[in-house]
Amino acid sequence: MYIHKMLLQGSFFIMHYRTLVRNNALLILLFTESLSADFSLSNAYPIFRILLLFYKYRNPVSDLASKFTNPVLRNLFQMALDWGPNCSAFPIWTLSLMAQGNAGYPMGGSLPLIESVEQKFKTLGGKIHFHSKITRIITENDFSTGIELEDGSVKNADIIISASDGYSTIFNWLGGKYTGSKITHAYQSLKLFSPLVYVSFGINGNFSQEPHTIRFALKKSFRIGQDEIKNLSLYNYSFDPSMAPEGKCVFILMIRTKYEYWERLKDNRELYLAEKNRIGEEVINGLSQLYPGIREKIEVMDVATPLTFVRYTGNREGSYQGWVLDKKGLTMRIPVTLPGLKNFYMAGQWVSPGGGLPSGLITGRNVIRKICKTEKRKFVTSQE
Ligand SMILES: Cc1cc2nc3c(=O)[nH]c(=O)nc-3n(C[C@H](O)[C@H](O)[C@H](O)COP(=O)(O)OP(=O)(O)OC[C@H]3O[C@@H](n4cnc5c(N)ncnc54)[C@H](O)[C@@H]3O)c2cc1C
Repeated sequence: MYIHKMLLQGSFFIMHYRTLVRNNALLILLFTESLSADFSLSNAYPIFRILLLFYKYRNPVSDLASKFTNPVLRNLFQMALDWGPNCSAFPIWTLSLMAQGNAGYPMGGSLPLIESVEQKFKTLGGKIHFHSKITRIITENDFSTGIELEDGSVKNADIIISASDGYSTIFNWLGGKYTGSKITHAYQSLKLFSPLVYVSFGINGNFSQEPHTIRFALKKSFRIGQDEIKNLSLYNYSFDPSMAPEGKCVFILMIRTKYEYWERLKDNRELYLAEKNRIGEEVINGLSQLYPGIREKIEVMDVATPLTFVRYTGNREGSYQGWVLDKKGLTMRIPVTLPGLKNFYMAGQWVSPGGGLPSGLITGRNVIRKICKTEKRKFVTSQE
């Protein structure tokens, strides 16, 4: 979702290049063309100067923005690139992927994207069992030998690769039996991406002439738990005709929130639903600032909370992208195997701080490469 936001930010950079030069930010932009999608320390060694840049811009955007002397520019920079505690090099890296043509918005959203992956996997002989919830990873004499599903059935396997939530994998499904100092340290010290309240609207109206993203200050702030919500970011999907019938469109707004607040509401369904509804109403009030009369145009409203994210993805505390890529995340290498356990590997965002779709592909490929090495087989891909 942040990808098209970056487009707007791209034009922001160009508009303010003088101030950016003064603050060295243009320097980063010049280097972004050569930044690899496979961002890991091992891959970064050959491009030493890039590593230096990541080192230099290891602090969050708020630190970088504070260097602007012009308050308007400072605020703009903070609002446009803000990504919480992540290092400021991270959004720049995302821009670089776009500049290389390695990132963008897939028309139709995530469904056709994942369907193409599914199709490819099947043509290579893969089989997928949907709606099969794992409750345990079975081990025998420190070899992983299978998985147990929610219905009690067992599936045996020669090799197990977990691409699910890291905490559940290590501490629940394997009972915390295979950890070590590195893993314990990572799970105790790395920060999670803040979960989201994700508000979506089906709008009966044509907003195709409006910007794709608008971040705006609310005239009247509102609260979610202890957090005061002062700004909103609106994503207008009018540019993707597959999202809604002609003359209609989809708006979404993502608001960072605290998991503990929602955890407390978990067992009180009435209160939970009322809170979702209240937040939806607050967001509509905010949107009315931009578009008076929008309320009458809203045909559908959906409010997803961190509990929704946990229910659908199983990810710890609803973190939408795993671990934050801050100073600690930048330098920490998470093992893809567990000490003492054979025939077992991990892939996905929980072995690669910063997460995101690229991390899924890169860590998945690296695990297969590792397995090939162990089995003394040549690692080949179907594309050069
Ligand atoms: C709203 C939103 C916007 C985002 N925008 C972007 C973006 O623009 N660009 C980007 O790069 N990233 C984006 N991300 C982040 C990105 O989606 C994740 O980082 C990425 O999907 C992580 O991939 P993964 O394979 O590691 O984990 P996941 O995609 O979380 O996959 C884990 C899988 O494990 C399954 N699972 C969990 N528990 C069990 C169980 N018990 N049994 C069986 N299966 C189980 C889940 O069903 C899921 O299919 C976004 C995320 C969100 C929520």
